[in-house]
Amino acid sequence: MNQSPFLYQLQQLDDEIAHAETRLKKIEAEIASDIEITQANAALAEAKNFEHMASHAFSEAEHTVKEIRIKIATSEQSLYGGKIHNPKELQDLQSEIASLKKRLSTAEDNELEQMIKQEEAAALLTQAEKDLHEVKDKKASEMALLFGEQDTLAKKVDRLVKERLARLGSISTESLQVYETLRRAKNGKAVALIEDNACEVCGASIRPAEKQAARSSSQLVFCDTCGRILYSG
Ligand SMILES: [Zn+2]
Repeated sequence: MNQSPFLYQLQQLDDEIAHAETRLKKIEAEIASDIEITQANAALAEAKNFEHMASHAFSEAEHTVKEIRIKIATSEQSLYGGKIHNPKELQDLQSEIASLKKRLSTAEDNELEQMIKQEEAAALLTQAEKDLHEVKDKKASEMALLFGEQDTLAKKVDRLVKERLARLGSISTESLQVYETLRRAKNGKAVALIEDNACEVCGASIRPAEKQAARSSSQLVFCDTCGRILYSG
């Protein structure tokens, strides 16, 4: 019995199985990798830390302003309270108030600056939280798709493997060995179709007698040029 049609079908099945298995490996790798979530989590942690520091700096700046204001109020009370009459003491108080007011102005500038920084940090934090949420959502829908595809492919491979086993029933042990050896040696292509009187893989011309033999001989016929099993279609 001519074996080439069965070997050709076997090759098609093996190609489909190999293709599905390659994709399955990729899917597995994609499911295992959560690099995007790791990155988004790291960005969120950094944003939280930044916001925490900015809030702290702002409340310190606020506190400094309050303290200086209280000191000014106290000194002004002493100055205008009428209890101090010594000109030197009064003068000292005045220059102290002037110096405090200078410090207050700088502290208020700083307070404003820290407030702006804190607002920026809070906005970054909100964004980082939103980003993580989006990445998780995206990942969840990607995962659902991948799990679906994985399931479909696994079932397909099961079916193809069963078909392959059934196909092996029509193939002799010797032919199968030749096929397996060629498949490994010839880049996964052991059987070549004869197309327009030429080998579809290497393009070498196939004589009519060879073509006839490839169709009807119980022996396998090989392409003289590339060494593959010829199948006349
Ligand atoms: Zn060839």
